[in-house]
Amino acid sequence: MAKIHPKKTSANLNKKQIQTLALCIRKILSRSIKAGGTTLRDYCVPDGSFGSFQKNHLVYRRQGLLCTLCQSVILGDVIAGRTTAFCPSCQIL
Ligand SMILES: [Zn+2]
Repeated sequence: MAKIHPKKTSANLNKKQIQTLALCIRKILSRSIKAGGTTLRDYCVPDGSFGSFQKNHLVYRRQGLLCTLCQSVILGDVIAGRTTAFCPSCQIL
């Protein structure tokens, strides 16, 4: 959502990118909470229902699928020991 490439280090973000990232983090968390969270395996809320935010993931676990914004193929890489998915066209900052 912030259009930042996942290999960009936090030390190399400019003030505008930091502000955009902070805003996007708040938006995503708010939307996720409203959707009951993300259920990938067995997470559920106290009433036993499952979260549905996984339907809104833009890149997470979508390697090989098309980006919903630009139709580019979502790529995957291991960054800092974590499997990471990203859109090579949208995440160029
Ligand atoms: Zn894209």
